[in-house]
Amino acid sequence: KPIVIAVDGPGGAGKGELTKRLARSLGYELLDSGAIYRVLAYAARKAGLALFDEDSLVQEALVVNLAFEPQDDGVHVILNGEDVSLAIRTEEAGANASKVAVLPRVRQALLARQRDFRQEPGLVADGRDMGTVVFPDAQVKIFLDASCEVRAKRRVLQLESSGKTADYAAILQEITERDERDRNRSVAPLKPADDAVIIDSSDMTVEEVFNKAMEIVKE
Ligand code: C5P
Repeated sequence: KPIVIAVDGPGGAGKGELTKRLARSLGYELLDSGAIYRVLAYAARKAGLALFDEDSLVQEALVVNLAFEPQDDGVHVILNGEDVSLAIRTEEAGANASKVAVLPRVRQALLARQRDFRQEPGLVADGRDMGTVVFPDAQVKIFLDASCEVRAKRRVLQLESSGKTADYAAILQEITERDERDRNRSVAPLKPADDAVIIDSSDMTVEEVFNKAMEIVKE
């Protein structure tokens, strides 16, 4: 089976940057599974569905017309021909994603879509349950963690660097709430796979995290 490098962990631990770099340097496909949950929640809101309406969300999950398009400035997310890359990146979109993500049959309905990304020569998969549920036989499993405070600080810097204002206390609270929802849900809760290597990025630079991950991949 094609190689899968599963990278799981909470939001803001640096998975996005790490998986982008890994995929680029290894020439592998990249799966941003969080974007799938974000788009599903976004599409559901547009369709006027409640984020707890599991039957309707399952239907939506099976039919939602979603594409990832690599462009010069990164991978764009396209929903029914509309570029929603920015719209799905807000804190609210993240919170909404984590609400639909607690629904077991919605997660089930998204499995095939995610597994289709496993192709030669390999896949780097970014998410919460890549190593535990979606690709339990992944050849490499990394769990990238960082403290809530560090993750909130990084988010503030990220927002400020794109010219936005950011409230540290509010962001810390949002991060903490989303984490709790992800860790405490009944299906596919956020936790390291038994065979995952844990990297705590709290005191590491992006470069150090990448080098550490490459060491693990080469073993
Ligand atoms: O990683 P990202 O912040 O884009 O994920 C948004 C939300 O989608 C997460 O907080 C989580 O609730 C959900 N998610 C998930 N399983 C994944 C990826 C994301 O439940 N594999």
